[in-house]
Amino acid sequence: MSIRVLSVASEVTGLVKTGGLADVVAALPAAVTPHGIEMTTLIPGYPAVIAAVQASTAPAPVKRGRKPADPALHVWDSLLGEPARLIAGKLGDHPLLVLDCPALFGRDGGPYGDMGGKDWPDNWRRFAALGRAAADIAGGAVPGLGADVLHAHDWQAALAPAYLRFAPYGAPGARPIPSVMTIHNMAFQGHFGPEIFPRLGLPDRAWGVSGVEYHGGVGLLKAGMEAASTITTVSPTYALEIREARFGMGLEGLIQTRGPRVRGIVNGIDTAEWDSATDKALAANFTVRSLPRRAVNKRALETAFGLQSDDGPLFIVISRLTWQKGIDVLCECLDHLVGLGGRLALLGAGDAALAAELSRAAARHPGRIGLRIGYDEALSHAMQGGADAILVPSRFEPCGLTQLYGLAYGCVPVVARTGGLADTVVDANIAALAAGAATGIQFAGVDYAGLALAITRAIALYHDREAWAGVQRAGMRSDFSWRRSGAAYAALYRELLSETA
Ligand code: ADP
Repeated sequence: MSIRVLSVASEVTGLVKTGGLADVVAALPAAVTPHGIEMTTLIPGYPAVIAAVQASTAPAPVKRGRKPADPALHVWDSLLGEPARLIAGKLGDHPLLVLDCPALFGRDGGPYGDMGGKDWPDNWRRFAALGRAAADIAGGAVPGLGADVLHAHDWQAALAPAYLRFAPYGAPGARPIPSVMTIHNMAFQGHFGPEIFPRLGLPDRAWGVSGVEYHGGVGLLKAGMEAASTITTVSPTYALEIREARFGMGLEGLIQTRGPRVRGIVNGIDTAEWDSATDKALAANFTVRSLPRRAVNKRALETAFGLQSDDGPLFIVISRLTWQKGIDVLCECLDHLVGLGGRLALLGAGDAALAAELSRAAARHPGRIGLRIGYDEALSHAMQGGADAILVPSRFEPCGLTQLYGLAYGCVPVVARTGGLADTVVDANIAALAAGAATGIQFAGVDYAGLALAITRAIALYHDREAWAGVQRAGMRSDFSWRRSGAAYAALYRELLSETA
């Protein structure tokens, strides 16, 4: 029997994306379908989302003198005080639901803030509305829709399990449907003041340590973690790390309390989108059997970034420019990298001070360090398909996707030993090299000594051309697809249903 899952999130690749969360939300429906799961995805109706959905659904012909029929699947007169509609779209071959609420989502800027990057002051209400709508749909309060399991992603969707648990759905006294709360990054928790509590429409009993209250205010992610039947995060190592204060960021106690309920399931990548044999963003397509063709892409990359052409290693970084990603440590190591004959091409956006520091390094090393400050999906593909190695010096990394794209494209990942980076890259130590199992380089300690040593190791390995090609091939042959993770999520949904049966 197939199981209906409602997946709710604030972004999805193809429509709105700020990070890896969007990639995961987009890939999940296809990943779980082979395991008998029918997944519907609910996202907010930002202007770009509404425009895309309207463009893809032709309006029904309207008879003269009649008002066009409202294509809405459902209408809320008041969702957190605002009128809202639910409209249907498509996410590839899978159903999509869009919460159209112009007062909350119909604004220019990013999904979470204005053009200047300042958070919207009413984010609590915007994402409470998303959570409430998800609970209404999954809980059966929207005629014609429903779900067997609710799957909420990150703090923006985290009130959904709380509404399910505390608001009355179904027959009086009926148990709510099971829910999964997936944490894609513990650093973003959605904290707000206590004054919002009365406006959430939750009963008084939802206030308190086992409800939405967090240090005297309201914690959205915390509320979801308390209310959900189970918690997952996006790698087994991160699932263990967040039991400690350094990674749990205040919620480590709750993670420990929920103990075995916290599971780590590694993300996969979209292997149709990231296929080096067919990728249109590459100057030359290649496979594991035609690695030398990557040289064409390397030359194209040198031109695109204004780099000198030579036979030395070309490193890349594709990243948000933030403290989490260790970009400050990267800056410290750039003279070292160039001194050993390396070059760097970096694509990223974020912290202005880090961007300025990178620009200074590029000015010091013309032709050796090239920068592109901004967001460019096609360029990110071209970089993975042409560079020799990708640096990922994250201080913490719940899963990380760029190292997986690197593996798929023969761009050897050089990663900090944390979270999903530790779980997905096999360090090129002597034993792993001898066994042909090495796929990259791991280093401990995100500081100058740690990263500089990793760069030294990478450059030495690069000059052993046969060993390097072996590492590239092992990476390309490793399983970074959604196959295993899709099966793991499907098994989890079934397990939850059998517990509530
Ligand atoms: P996070 O979600 O923490 O930012 P991930 O590695 O999980 O990190 O996912 C980042 C995603 O965003 C990847 O798909 C990566 O290729 C992409 N990305 C990050 N920065 C850029 C950029 N400046 N241009 C294009 N793609 C980017």
